[in-house]
Amino acid sequence: MPNTITGGCLCGNIRYSVSAPVEKIIACHCTHCQKASGAGASHNAVVPTSAVTFTAGKPRLFADTAQSGNILNRYFCPDCGSPIYSQRAKVPEMLVLKVGTLDAPNDMKLVMNIWTNSARPWMHRDPATEHYAENRPVKA
Ligand SMILES: [Zn+2]
Ligand SMILES: [Zn+2]
Repeated sequence: MPNTITGGCLCGNIRYSVSAPVEKIIACHCTHCQKASGAGASHNAVVPTSAVTFTAGKPRLFADTAQSGNILNRYFCPDCGSPIYSQRAKVPEMLVLKVGTLDAPNDMKLVMNIWTNSARPWMHRDPATEHYAENRPVKA
């Protein structure tokens, strides 16, 4: 059983715990993540939905039509606006956690950049990581 990781929004009304390891971070440079995060990219980790428990509050949903055309449900704190996670409507068993909402840095590494076609020119990208112009390839 891995150590439980905790996180939450800026105002503290949303709190959650994750019982799965969070190791690999994916930076998404799509224009929707830029708007939703107010930053050059969003930093995400894909975890099983069953591993995440909300211990306080209930995130509010914005159903976004992603650049891919798929519905991406984006969840955020209704009180302070912090993005908490997103989830593909077609893939409810996985959840894309916004790793900036985790309480403490863990043993995490940024391994991949996606949607680099729309990356802001001032965003540094480590050449040692994987880069994809659009979405990451689906692994079998
Ligand atoms: Zn909040
Ligand atoms: Zn994105």
